[in-house]
Amino acid sequence: MINEKVDVIVIGAGPAGCVAAAILNKNGYSVKVIEKQQFPRFVIGESLLPRCLDNLEKAGLLEAVQMQNFQRKNGASFVRDEHEICEFNFAEQHTKGWEYAWQMRRSEFDKTLADEIERQGVSLSYQESVEAVEFKTDKVLVSVQTNNNLNYIIESKFLIDASGYGRVLPRLLNLSKPSNFPARTAFFAHIKDENRIEGTEFLTEVADLKKAWTWIIPVAPGVTSIGFVGDTAFLESHGSNFDKGTFASLLKTHPKLNSRYSNNINFLTEPKVIKGYSVGVKQMHGDRYVLVGNSTEFLDPVFSSGVAFATETGAIAGDLVSKQLNGEVVDWNKDYVEYIQHGINVFRTYVKEWYSGNLQTIFFAVDKDPSFKKQICSVLAGYVWDMSNPYVKKHNRAVTVLAQVIRSQKLANMQ
Ligand SMILES: Cc1cc2nc3c(=O)[nH]c(=O)nc-3n(C[C@H](O)[C@H](O)[C@H](O)COP(=O)(O)OP(=O)(O)OC[C@H]3O[C@@H](n4cnc5c(N)ncnc54)[C@H](O)[C@@H]3O)c2cc1C
Repeated sequence: MINEKVDVIVIGAGPAGCVAAAILNKNGYSVKVIEKQQFPRFVIGESLLPRCLDNLEKAGLLEAVQMQNFQRKNGASFVRDEHEICEFNFAEQHTKGWEYAWQMRRSEFDKTLADEIERQGVSLSYQESVEAVEFKTDKVLVSVQTNNNLNYIIESKFLIDASGYGRVLPRLLNLSKPSNFPARTAFFAHIKDENRIEGTEFLTEVADLKKAWTWIIPVAPGVTSIGFVGDTAFLESHGSNFDKGTFASLLKTHPKLNSRYSNNINFLTEPKVIKGYSVGVKQMHGDRYVLVGNSTEFLDPVFSSGVAFATETGAIAGDLVSKQLNGEVVDWNKDYVEYIQHGINVFRTYVKEWYSGNLQTIFFAVDKDPSFKKQICSVLAGYVWDMSNPYVKKHNRAVTVLAQVIRSQKLANMQ
């Protein structure tokens, strides 16, 4: 029995789902968001990029987030061998854009977005899970299971899958594709951090890159998110249980972390592990559906690009679905897949070059040439569609060539 009819169903109330739903609602369409969990809920991804702010503004969600006074992230710092530091400041960019983002508990950020879309008139049901979908020629039937094991069906004209790590449509329609990156592991926790001076740190810190790197993100007053990402065997060599003992042992591997945390680690969350986090899809859209956010492709956490992509895909999908429902012809391949794929490809290059070591060569030399630095800074801010930036347009070659030039200059200087 069909319980409800709406224009669009969105699976998942993360950033991708909220942005898409807000835009459709603004455009006058009836939207129903089905969310499996009760918010606030934990999700990883606490450090945002300035590009997110453009997307939140477009969706009418920016003001609500700004009112939360989350901790500002003014840039990113990369540290090598404890003493070499490369700092990118989002105020010094090639692309004209936002000069800051935020770092905060995602539970609070996502709850802010979800509350705001409800306030704006979007219907959102928590603790209900999309279990099956049936595509008919003129509609989509979505089977939902409630927390009390009751089932019901909603009918819609279009379905947006924003289910993130749940990957509902990739699972149901067999759309998942393995990533061509090596399967790496991420291991993370929130810890109490009394030694930190609020607002002074906005950094990603590097341990031994061949084995793992680590992030240190201040997410709230006195609370720091620490994560280790890298080779699974290396991380497991510190304890295959991935428990507090493993975490403490890993903290000791880095002199800076060791001196700062290892005496008295006060865990605020149990450490969590995600193995083989990179994943792709065979297709991003089909008749009456589109995938947004992590449901499409996730590369790597190193440049904190996940929420920027989630909001970007949500914003574009919201617009394109509105057009289609308005009877306009939408070229999904050109206007969605090619556009998004370009952004993914730019970040794919930077992730690849991070692990190849070429980016480190550049980062720790780049201070000497501010023009490259501004261009690379805009990529790190998420402005990966600005074709006036050679480090976007020619990303494939630009990073490798610059690293080669820096290495040759270093060699020449030594002779
Ligand atoms: C180790 C690690 C570190 C990361 N760090 C960063 C970072 O610093 N910055 C950053 O921007 N990104 C980061 N990311 C990426 C970030 O976590 C994701 O890109 C982001 O959360 C994607 O948002 P989303 O809206 O697509 O999905 P989510 O935020 O995952 O939301 C999806 C929602 O769908 C719901 N759902 C799932 N299945 C169903 C179902 N069957 N029915 C109904 N609802 C369902 C879920 O409950 C969930 O609330 C990191 C990722 C990893 C693995």
